[in-house]
Amino acid sequence: MTILWLGEAESTDIDAVGGKGASLGELTDAGLPVPPGFVVTADTYRRFLQTAGIETELFEEILATDADDSVAIAEAARAARELIRETSVPETVRDDIIAAYRELGSQTADRGEPFVAVRSSATAEDLPDASFAGQHETFLNVTEADLIDRIRECWASLFAERAVHYRTNQGFDHETVDIAVVVQQMVDAEKSGVLFTRHPSSGDRQMIAESAWGLGEAVVSGAVSPDHYVISPETATVVESTITDKKQQMIKDPETGETTLEAVSKDKRTTRVLSDAEIETLVDLGTTVETHYGEPQDVEWAMVNGEIFMLQSRPITTISDTEDNSAGSSDESAPADDEGVLVQGVSASPGRGSGEVRIVRKLDHLDQVTEGDIIVSKMTMPDMVPAMKRASAIVTDEGGMTSHASIVSREMGVPAVVGTRDATQVLSDGQLVTVDGDMGVIRAGGPTKPDEPAIQPDPVESVRPQTPVKPMTATEVKVNLSIPEAAERAAATGADGVGLLRIEHMVISLGKTPEQYIADHGKEAYIDELVDGIRTVAEAFYPRPVRARTLDAPTDEFRELEGGSDEPHEHNPMLGYRGVRRSLDKPEPFRCELAAFSRLFDIGYDNVELMLPLVNDAEDVERARTHMEAVGIDPEKARWGVMIETPASALLIEEIAEAGIDFVSFGTNDLTQYTLAVDRNNEYVVDRFDELHPGVLSLIESTIERCRALGVDTSICGQAASKSAMVQFLVEEGVSSISANIDAVRDVQHEVKRVEQKLLLDSVR
Ligand code: PEP
Ligand code: MG
Repeated sequence: MTILWLGEAESTDIDAVGGKGASLGELTDAGLPVPPGFVVTADTYRRFLQTAGIETELFEEILATDADDSVAIAEAARAARELIRETSVPETVRDDIIAAYRELGSQTADRGEPFVAVRSSATAEDLPDASFAGQHETFLNVTEADLIDRIRECWASLFAERAVHYRTNQGFDHETVDIAVVVQQMVDAEKSGVLFTRHPSSGDRQMIAESAWGLGEAVVSGAVSPDHYVISPETATVVESTITDKKQQMIKDPETGETTLEAVSKDKRTTRVLSDAEIETLVDLGTTVETHYGEPQDVEWAMVNGEIFMLQSRPITTISDTEDNSAGSSDESAPADDEGVLVQGVSASPGRGSGEVRIVRKLDHLDQVTEGDIIVSKMTMPDMVPAMKRASAIVTDEGGMTSHASIVSREMGVPAVVGTRDATQVLSDGQLVTVDGDMGVIRAGGPTKPDEPAIQPDPVESVRPQTPVKPMTATEVKVNLSIPEAAERAAATGADGVGLLRIEHMVISLGKTPEQYIADHGKEAYIDELVDGIRTVAEAFYPRPVRARTLDAPTDEFRELEGGSDEPHEHNPMLGYRGVRRSLDKPEPFRCELAAFSRLFDIGYDNVELMLPLVNDAEDVERARTHMEAVGIDPEKARWGVMIETPASALLIEEIAEAGIDFVSFGTNDLTQYTLAVDRNNEYVVDRFDELHPGVLSLIESTIERCRALGVDTSICGQAASKSAMVQFLVEEGVSSISANIDAVRDVQHEVKRVEQKLLLDSVR
């Protein structure tokens, strides 16, 4: 059978219809109103290969590549896709699909030629992430003329370069992965919205609906603020409602199927979207969906011609009543005074951890750090990361909020206090202490409550959004990342992407300076290391954007590494040879970094963006752009931008923008140190380091304003993005996105939502 109707597919039919097809089939079976459609089965794909006689060529010739040869893999993937695209679909298969499409048209639309969505639905259940199997391929607004081509394109997506790379590297057999294709009617919604089958924040037995005119994208993108209804599920009546002024709606162009934003007619703008009868229909839908899944759901729905469709449903995870370990939480069990305080410092990573002190003076002491110990050292280095993962807390003598120890411990969710000046002197090996990362103190003894856990809860779980749904915000909230190992944890925050991926950690953990590494192992090996590190993050977030930055490490960090004796001795490394200055001066390692980006773009990571650190003026940017072009990056196609970290770059934004950048990102760690002349790593002036200083804010404010006029996106990725006062300031100024530390993402999402709502209210008051 070439196709299976969604009503015929069951959840157990994954082999035939793939994961997506099976779940849509299950919902259709359960009587839920999913838009009608059919699945071109995996068997049909197989039949296509067999009838054309291309299996041997595809699997035994083209795809038989060496797992270590990334260039050969890229070529194989390209050839495999081309072979699929050039092979014609058997006549009988073609006829069956077109017949099903016309049947769908006769069922659903008066014109008989409906717009459909065509989506790949892979059957490889054993793959940890179905995205590797080309699961992401989706074509919207397809009609009969290009239906067969689109389906074949979905088959070809099984050989997207990232998918082939992944399967080759992991030893998965390309032949065992099949692909089905879902063809589903698109809903031309007159009204749409979301329904929470329980109150999203209190968990009360109330349903909450939000609705607006037209397609749901208008609400999701923040272009329209929807009507809000609190509904009693028992009586299916509205208990409370807020009717907003819905100035715009998203509609579909009847000719092309493209969506466009248009003004809502005056009489409809402030009219309530949902009638009482429609509320009843929604309540029925909500009840059926919740019963089907056995837990509260957040349902996306659409209505057309009085008919309701369910587009998507996700579980609502009710608010946990366990103790909140997020940044800034107050904890009543902590002693309020100085009782038992042995050492104080900067609270670098939140949470509390108790255990035995392990003073680490040399790297070879690291194997003495056992699970649950407290690492106490002068400072930390990338080689210490495995031991830091075992530790229940980290304490250092040196460093501030943005030092290596702080960044790594925050990303891993390990409590940390840094810049204590003398912890390695005051504390002794084996001593039992409790590190309070919120208060920045280390106390004698173990946990204050006998049943309090000595070690923090699971770091991935602790950052998942705790409210039922992630707050929907017009300003994007992203996350900062340095260690690829923390990518899963970062992605679990629900952030809209990575606003800053620092590659310094990847480079420094090679144990050699870039120059030394290239001298010993060659350029290709260096490029491979970077591709691997960035790819881990790009994959965890795909298709959410990942903004990776070229290297920016000061020479004192390089000096510790092999090859470090060649580094210049600088009076103040923070003002010296780092960022794009070093890159332009030493183009060989820089070109390797750029080549890594170029390769990732070629592999298909269209979510990777490139960012240049510490630029001062247009000349810096133009010179870097020339290097980008030299390695094959097309600056017109790639998304790239610069950090605004020096007052000069903020003042000269117009000239910089002329180089063709898509975005800027405020690096407030550096922008603050350079504006205020306060060394960010110097614990003696830590109290003068103020990112909210009017001088710093004034530079940010005027840059945002001018970037808006220039059509350049603005963002922040410095430590200050995690502070609510900064978030408030930036949202009010109209920043495009905010990138915070992993542990702060959740709070920032809520803060952004709060400020946006306030702005909206102020505008109508
Ligand atoms: C900054 O300067 O704010 C920044 C994000 O970059 P880094 O901390 O890596 O210098
Ligand atoms: Mg910086």
